[in-house]
Amino acid sequence: MTECIFCRIAARDLPGEIVHEDDAIVAFRDISPQAPTHIVLVPRKHIPSTNELVAEDDHIMGRLLRVAAELAKKEQIDQRGYRLVLNCGAEAGQSVDHIHLHLLGGRGLTWPPG
Ligand code: AMP
Repeated sequence: MTECIFCRIAARDLPGEIVHEDDAIVAFRDISPQAPTHIVLVPRKHIPSTNELVAEDDHIMGRLLRVAAELAKKEQIDQRGYRLVLNCGAEAGQSVDHIHLHLLGGRGLTWPPG
């Protein structure tokens, strides 16, 4: 069994509050939410980070964005605004080595990020 926690949540081998799943993408609520809506979206395929993306992943990443937009609508934050964040590597704060998109919203978000 893989050690990757996001692979394991996607496989329902670890608990997670899953809000969306399809053949390519799984989305679940962040365990340590930084905003009223904080959802993590992951591809089922284990890709460590954006550094490892290859051309065949283009459709997965496109789907990831579209599912995020659908979830923003479902969470009723699409009109007021939301942020999509994809951390890559240590200095960006990536703590799980499985590519993931954060959907954050439900409060004012400052810029620039910390
Ligand atoms: P990052 O810092 O960009 O790598 O984001 C990883 C995110 O995953 C953090 O916001 C964590 O709170 C979240 N996280 C870690 N473990 C879990 C888990 N078991 N269930 C849900 N979210 C998690």
